[in-house]
Amino acid sequence: MGETIFAKIIRKEIPADIVFENEHILAFKDINPQAPVHILIIPKITEIEKTLDIDPVRHSKILSELIDAANKIARNSGISGSGFRIVINCGADAGQEVYHLHLHLLGGRKMNWPPG
Ligand code: AMP
Repeated sequence: MGETIFAKIIRKEIPADIVFENEHILAFKDINPQAPVHILIIPKITEIEKTLDIDPVRHSKILSELIDAANKIARNSGISGSGFRIVINCGADAGQEVYHLHLHLLGGRKMNWPPG
């Protein structure tokens, strides 16, 4: 699979509303928000297109960093008390559009279950 739009966002070649960045991770507002808070949290490495590519040895650290970033952003966004959802879509039936691993952090409204 070729380069994604997220690789261009990481290189700052296209703009994004960035809410958090460090050496390994970038987080920015989803362009088509599905909740009052909808943040995408991505690793800067591009080798993980989807969850099926995750190697438990090589990628365990970045995975915990992604969750840690999601928790920090949830706290900073004021949704840690009310609750939130972290979603990772994998493949066609899940509706994955961008093949660069990303966590959706969704909150600020009551979520439905089962998801759509
Ligand atoms: P997924 O369907 O899980 O692959 O999610 C991809 C997400 O990326 C969707 O929620 C899109 O709205 C979002 N998205 C696509 N392009 C951009 C962009 N340039 N800036 C921010 N979010 C984007």
